[in-house]
Amino acid sequence: MKAVIIGAGMGGMSAAIALKQLGFDVAVYEQVTENKPVGAAISVWSNGVKCLNHLGLEEETAALGGIVDTMSYVDGHTGETMCRFSMQPLIDEVGQRPYPIARAELQLMLMNAYGFDDINFGMKMVSVEDGPDAATVQFADGTSVSGDIVIGADGAKSLTREYVLGGPVTRRYAGYVNFNGLVATDPAIGPSTEWTTYVGDGKRVSVMPVAGDRFYFFFDVPMPEGQPFERGTAREVLTKEFDGWAPGVQTLIEKLDPATTNRVEILDLDPFDTWVKGRVAVLGDAAHNTTPDIGQGGCSAMEDAVALQFAFRDHPDDVYAALADYQAARAERAGDLVLRARKRCDVTHAKDPEKTAQWYSELREEDGTNIIRGIVGNIVGGPVT
Ligand code: FAD
Repeated sequence: MKAVIIGAGMGGMSAAIALKQLGFDVAVYEQVTENKPVGAAISVWSNGVKCLNHLGLEEETAALGGIVDTMSYVDGHTGETMCRFSMQPLIDEVGQRPYPIARAELQLMLMNAYGFDDINFGMKMVSVEDGPDAATVQFADGTSVSGDIVIGADGAKSLTREYVLGGPVTRRYAGYVNFNGLVATDPAIGPSTEWTTYVGDGKRVSVMPVAGDRFYFFFDVPMPEGQPFERGTAREVLTKEFDGWAPGVQTLIEKLDPATTNRVEILDLDPFDTWVKGRVAVLGDAAHNTTPDIGQGGCSAMEDAVALQFAFRDHPDDVYAALADYQAARAERAGDLVLRARKRCDVTHAKDPEKTAQWYSELREEDGTNIIRGIVGNIVGGPVT
């Protein structure tokens, strides 16, 4: 069985490893010429970690992951702690510690596990077509490749999705911009084993540890879509946006490197149920593009990869039955996470300021129980229990 995978992001690489484990002949094609992911890090929640463990990467994942022992919310203006609680109840309940991981390191881990030299970089897919005996991809350089299946793990702007759905879709601007990067841990910003989040005015500033004594940081700033921004000017923009905020936020703004700070407009896409057309299927952001508000987009891509493996394990000789199972296992679960993230996004970023003020009040009463219940609700339901 030959699988052609388009896209060497975390979804495509997880799928490549998963299908290789089943004995597939796997070929990965990636449009960029080197491993340079956009974005600094992601929080791999326990469901994502379980998928990586299932793919044989338990030790490597733990070595790259930051240790988050506690979580806290801080009043962005005063610096007063609104709540602080242990993550241990969550770990106990779901049976796996989550790990924030630098993106480039996560990506490299997956690429090495598959075989870095076997990835075809610099290969941009320009079209895909299903056929009775094979599906075929055409590349920008004029070459083509066929496989028993084509997995489109080609991200949020997926061309494969266009093929599967029969036309382009319009993504939705979620109303805010995310600035993110890596910075050395500093107790003036937050404790080194804590996920600290400053909140106020529908804005959010967060730091969480990744391996190597670094924080993954991000700032969420509600603003209209399409504002001009020159790379390298993040400090100036953030200084203005967070004028008067707590000392920890000011220290973070001073310490971050504007040259490597990313700025991302956040979009998502209404969930859809059709993930497969004949021998062609979508996976990862191509299938479920979410806001990052519950940190589940990448985890969901890893779940897709394991579900795809399970589907072909159960139907080794029947592409159509396997892909139907894959779609049935994933579309509802992944769509649910997109909608949960959208709901969280609206509260966090003051779509309705009264609801956000109510949330801030609740945070002052929180002992961790409600927040952990919510996170556990996102984690459970994946293919690896
Ligand atoms: P991508 O990572 O986008 O990879 C797609 C790949 O396909 C790219 O390498 C691209 O170059 C390639 N490609 C595209 N088109 C073609 C083509 N025509 N031909 C060949 N190659 C092509 N998720 C979490 O789980 N936890 C988090 O904490 C988290 N935080 C996030 C924070 C932010 C600010 C954002 C924006 C996202 C966050 N996510 C998080 C979501 C996560 O980044 C994505 O869900 C994940 O990267 C999706 O992986 P993917 O492989 O599907 O797509």
